[in-house]
Amino acid sequence: MTELTCIICPRGCHLTVDENLNVTGNSCPRGEAYAKAELTHPTRTLTSTIKVISSNATRVPCKTSEPLDKDKIFKAMKEINEVVVKAPIRIGDVLIKGVAGSNVNIIATKDID
Ligand code: SF4
Repeated sequence: MTELTCIICPRGCHLTVDENLNVTGNSCPRGEAYAKAELTHPTRTLTSTIKVISSNATRVPCKTSEPLDKDKIFKAMKEINEVVVKAPIRIGDVLIKGVAGSNVNIIATKDID
């Protein structure tokens, strides 16, 4: 038996998952999907900022293009903290391709001139 708090929406339902991956406590189907994924293949969307040169801005906001395996988050943050990108940057530009050896990219979430 595993207990989780659903992080999909602010309601934060308290979920219980048994050994057969039967989920209870969820108020909607998204909670069941979250609990099953969390116990079999946990992932996270990562948001951060990356250092910028050639601009008045010093950092560009960024995020993963899709959820990243949870066990790669630490390595991804290390790469994000080490990389420097050059302006101009447009929303959606790939700033790091295949972060932490995954097939997930780090993309810009703001235009930087
Ligand atoms: S189970 Fe549904 S309602 Fe409850 S926190 Fe998750 S997404 Fe929100």
